[in-house]
Amino acid sequence: MAKREIPVKKNEMITLTFEDLTHEGNGVGKINGYPLFVQGGLPGEEAEVKVVKANKNFGFGRLMNVKTKSPERVDPPCDVYYKCGGCQLQHMSYDLQLEMKRNQVKSVMKKVAHLEHVPVHPTLGMEDPWRYRNKVQIPVGEKDGELITGFYQKRSHRIIDDMDTCIIQDEVNDDMVDVVREIATKLGITAYDEKKDRGTLRHIVVRTGERTGETMVVLITRTEKLPYQQQLIDEITKHHPHVKSIVHNINKQKTNVIFGNKTKVIWGEPYIHDTIGDITFGISARSFYQVNPKQTDVLYEKALEYAQLEPDDVVVDAYCGIGTISLFLAQKAKKVYGVEIVPEAIADAKDNAKINNITNAEFFVGEAEKVMDWWKVQGLKPDVVVVDPPRKGCDVDFLDATINMQPKRIVYVSCNPSTLARDLRILEDGGYETKEVQPVDMFPQTTHVECVAWMSRE
Ligand code: SAH
Repeated sequence: MAKREIPVKKNEMITLTFEDLTHEGNGVGKINGYPLFVQGGLPGEEAEVKVVKANKNFGFGRLMNVKTKSPERVDPPCDVYYKCGGCQLQHMSYDLQLEMKRNQVKSVMKKVAHLEHVPVHPTLGMEDPWRYRNKVQIPVGEKDGELITGFYQKRSHRIIDDMDTCIIQDEVNDDMVDVVREIATKLGITAYDEKKDRGTLRHIVVRTGERTGETMVVLITRTEKLPYQQQLIDEITKHHPHVKSIVHNINKQKTNVIFGNKTKVIWGEPYIHDTIGDITFGISARSFYQVNPKQTDVLYEKALEYAQLEPDDVVVDAYCGIGTISLFLAQKAKKVYGVEIVPEAIADAKDNAKINNITNAEFFVGEAEKVMDWWKVQGLKPDVVVVDPPRKGCDVDFLDATINMQPKRIVYVSCNPSTLARDLRILEDGGYETKEVQPVDMFPQTTHVECVAWMSRE
């Protein structure tokens, strides 16, 4: 067999026309059938590209000069967009972002789930896709004797030291990070130094309830003690009455995981509140809560629509977190059973049921796959199963147990289209039919894609 030649060489300058976008939002162009991936390239554009890597079957290039611009190209409004690893899609119109996300879902439905005929609806986007995040988690560093806060530069652990603002964060949180950093600098608190594994303050986390305006500040330190704790509390609370909770978390490990295992409420409430629809939620420092509150409404409304609940229905909400979806569905169902692996989240879920006088929801701590099996043995027969697993998707034992219990409908909320498609295939083989898939844009300007899929028994 003739060896196929690689048509480009490293460091060569070429002219490339982009035909497509990858799931990461990179432009794809071909030279004699050989694909090159280029960050920043948009379909339809002709550009000068420098080859930076030429593998056997594909290569990578750097965008040097765009000769013909796509009408979908926009000037990224963020000053540090090209340095920061946080956003990937600010150089394309929002319409193109939404289309790209839908295409990604269609593609995995076809390639992974073998479901090319399932309707994948146009992505539900935001009217204003900026300042949507209700939680900022930002690393702390030092420069010229002052504390700095900024996201990491792309593919590195170097903090961007000239980041004034992050325009996908709620402004309240953005400002609060500045306030805390300035107070900590004034008090002489040191930043954690990752290389030397020394110093104190690692991350500042700020979360605000969009509808209540209540803010939680979390300070994560390497040290057991938070130095100047009382002064910090006094300074923060003196001028910022929206702060309802200050929490200290200790992370002694040499790791890039943000939170450590020890969490102490050092001032105020253990919770902040937010509302989704008519329901109020208490959210503690370690519990998962969707980061885009406006789109959470859209996502949960879709999940509710797909669940097609009748007053007599029994529902399982697996991977339920603090019970957000469970309590939302409980209003329309006879009974909801929630299961979640993080004990603090289940404690929150139980409290949330109480706050809202919801008595037909019960919550269990454990692995969804084990608890589901146990429920089956107990004779539980859910009419509807709702799942919202983390990126790795559902455990196959969970899916088997679900198939065995034969609910009428399954609603699958997913933040990773690839594992969604894998799991839909398993459920299809177990007798379910995928009716529709609805992508919802929870993370504008980034490549993340959220979906809700609706399945029913044939
Ligand atoms: N439905 C919730 C949370 C979704 S995030 C909401 O919309 O807010 C996914 C949740 O799954 C997290 O809370 C995580 O702690 C939990 N989780 C991860 N692995 C799990 C497992 N094996 N069993 C049960 N829950 C799990």
